[in-house]
Amino acid sequence: MARETKKHLRETEKFKLDFLYKLQTLHGKELEEASNNDKYTALVGVLRDRISQNWVATNRDYSEKSRKQVYYFSMEFLLGKLLPMYLINMGVHDVCRDALAELDIDIDKLTEAEPDAGLGNGGLGRLAACFMDSIAAMKLPGHGNGIRYRYGLFEQKIVDGHQVELPDNWLKDGYAWEYRRGDRATEVRFGGHVRTEATGNKLTFIHEGYEPVLAVPYDVPIIGHENNTVNTLRLWNAEPIEGEFDLPTFNRGDYLKAVEYKHSVERISKILYPEDNFYEGRLLRLKQQYFFVSAGIQSIIRRFKKRRGPIRALPDRVTIHINDTHPAVAVPELMRILMDEEGLGWDDAWDITTRTVSYTNHTIMPEALEKWPVQMFKTLLPRIYMIVEEINERYCRRLWQRYPGNWDKIAQMAIIADEQVHMARLAVVGSFSVNGVAALHTDILKKHLFHHYYEDMPHKFNNKTNGITHRRWLLRANRGLAEVLTDTIGKSWVEHPEDLTNLLKYDSDASVQEKLKQVKLQNKEHLARHIKEKYDVLVDPASIFDVQIKRIHAYKRQLLNVLHVMDLYNRLKDNPDLDIVPRTFLFGGKAAPGYYLAKQIIKLINMLAYKINNDLSIKGKLKVVFLENYSVSLGEMVFPASDVSEQISTASKEASGTGNMKFMLNGAVTMGTMDGANVEIRNAVGDDNIFIFGLNSDQVIDFYRYGGYKSYDCYNNDKRIKLILDQLVNGYLPGGKDEFRPIFDSLLRDNDEFFVLKDFDDYATAQERLDQRFRDQGVWSKMSIHNIAHAGIFSSDRSIAEYAIGIWNVKPAEIPRL
Ligand SMILES: *Cc1c(COP(=O)(O)O)cnc(C)c1O
Repeated sequence: MARETKKHLRETEKFKLDFLYKLQTLHGKELEEASNNDKYTALVGVLRDRISQNWVATNRDYSEKSRKQVYYFSMEFLLGKLLPMYLINMGVHDVCRDALAELDIDIDKLTEAEPDAGLGNGGLGRLAACFMDSIAAMKLPGHGNGIRYRYGLFEQKIVDGHQVELPDNWLKDGYAWEYRRGDRATEVRFGGHVRTEATGNKLTFIHEGYEPVLAVPYDVPIIGHENNTVNTLRLWNAEPIEGEFDLPTFNRGDYLKAVEYKHSVERISKILYPEDNFYEGRLLRLKQQYFFVSAGIQSIIRRFKKRRGPIRALPDRVTIHINDTHPAVAVPELMRILMDEEGLGWDDAWDITTRTVSYTNHTIMPEALEKWPVQMFKTLLPRIYMIVEEINERYCRRLWQRYPGNWDKIAQMAIIADEQVHMARLAVVGSFSVNGVAALHTDILKKHLFHHYYEDMPHKFNNKTNGITHRRWLLRANRGLAEVLTDTIGKSWVEHPEDLTNLLKYDSDASVQEKLKQVKLQNKEHLARHIKEKYDVLVDPASIFDVQIKRIHAYKRQLLNVLHVMDLYNRLKDNPDLDIVPRTFLFGGKAAPGYYLAKQIIKLINMLAYKINNDLSIKGKLKVVFLENYSVSLGEMVFPASDVSEQISTASKEASGTGNMKFMLNGAVTMGTMDGANVEIRNAVGDDNIFIFGLNSDQVIDFYRYGGYKSYDCYNNDKRIKLILDQLVNGYLPGGKDEFRPIFDSLLRDNDEFFVLKDFDDYATAQERLDQRFRDQGVWSKMSIHNIAHAGIFSSDRSIAEYAIGIWNVKPAEIPRL
């Protein structure tokens, strides 16, 4: 017997015994009595035991060698399921699968028992998760810091075409991957007032009358890919402080106060706000921000001091990276700790802070920029507000020297202006690095949103184009494709995703093309079965699977896609023999519960789907399906089954996009605008392997600045557009006649803020080009291959390598196998 096989058998046998033993010790059950959930937790238990040694070894290495560490602060981590990914990263997938199979257990069934950790809304939260994976895979000392929301992003149900939101009770059976660390709990303080005392020539600030909150960390191990590294994602839970209000008096007032206190504290980590790219100035949200930031920095400083001494060395040993402005209070909070707790003076504290904090901007959309009313900020965080005021005064003083008399400019740059605290400005001023997330986005930051700061501090600005982990989005999600790739170009692409370019040699190789086509077909058949089972709609795996799956948002322009489907349908009704390649239009995505127009778009898609899918006269050439509850797990099924990737945001609005990269990596061809990372995708694959249409970002920005666009002109001058828009309001669609009036109004009365009608014609033409190209399967196959081959640069490993070298200055640490 071959040595490999022997080893496999031995390991499989061992795994089986470990699993049965764990089932017994954890649940006191034998296999026959165990539920699916029992088996799942037993399996995770086996893996936890195997992880723990490496976890300890990793932490010891970081401490003993005084490694510089990065802490990624993010309000969102959209992790999805960890089990299938960790089986791969730990190199035990096949052993585990075979061991369980011998016990008559299907490993995929166990995976279903794991809840998707949905602690994020969309791209920003998923990016944080991809980054965690890449940091560990690259053996870098880096950890996450966030909130352990009791309820993650709501679950979406479609009822009569409408979105209905259900609470995501993901912790109801416990979370097998978390470790509560009660001993590392820390206190976070809200409200009260600050008393200033002068002792000698030094002022001290005493925070009094505050409400204390206990922040308890729950640690989730982040496992590197076959490398022994185990980093930590620390998620904070808000709990009442024992004894604080349980006074010996049984006074009614005290009792009520005690209960109120408990509830007000627990609310802090109760829910994830469900808005994507949108800011709502809620007090509780600010409380969440300060809660996880303060707890995170306290734990970093505590750990730092235990091991490494002089606080002045902090920037050499620690970088705190803030994912968008949500954790921007990190700047004044670090200042507070350095001054009030470590006794440093302002200048030293400022020097340390501004060499420790780095910031990523994620959007230029005005409605997403965080600004807190001064009164609210000051009441909730009195000491922090004092520090922000001082930062602002000192910065403005510097600006007065640099731009004497230029009040306008200074007002535009001040951190506190119009009675509001501007968080993006605080983040720019308080950090040593400001990066955008795609080349175009960074250019727009320099030219527009942060133009004045760029002139003042050009050295801070840099680009780090987003990425996705190819391990989850290809190796795990599309095993069929991964196998063909490895058979064709060897397995080096797993370690070095740039090596996917080796596939280019085979772009016209009939046998490789055929294998890839078969894999795609299988993935489409799998999705088609899911659609049949779940929605009772038959879709043809031979049709083009044209997919737009992402948060529903006006700027992402699902509406442009829908209007085009309506137009195609109109043309087919006009001429049932119209020669088009059969297409299946798939949509998916959640709308924020309070975002009326976005919910109307979901309704519109579903009404249109109902009409089209039940119309026999078009001979099945068109199908439309709205896929419920877009999540990481659904994405893992959809990206591998896609032919066309719809990335059609209004140019300048999508900072990067990462869905675009997942599609590309799985061989889908992009239909897109010159926005975000689409620009870089186009540069990578070349014009022949992508469909680009529409206004570019300069044109869009000029329209916003100088006007000149009248959407009514498009309506009046283009018969197709007029027909479609009228169909929105003349009872053509099922549902009430006035159901879609608000959409109609947004396009005409409100002059179409996102240029849907302006780009319509160009989009429809590009879709025709695509239809023509798809007919030649050799050509299409080649396009698909070029997309896969050039997707390596969009691995988050590349992004993280750039962050590590260009911003964080962290280096890989080899963790020995124990
Ligand atoms: C990748 C991803 C996103 C981001 O998609 P975009 O198209 O870039 O907006 C959102 N949600 C989930 C679940 C994802 O996996």
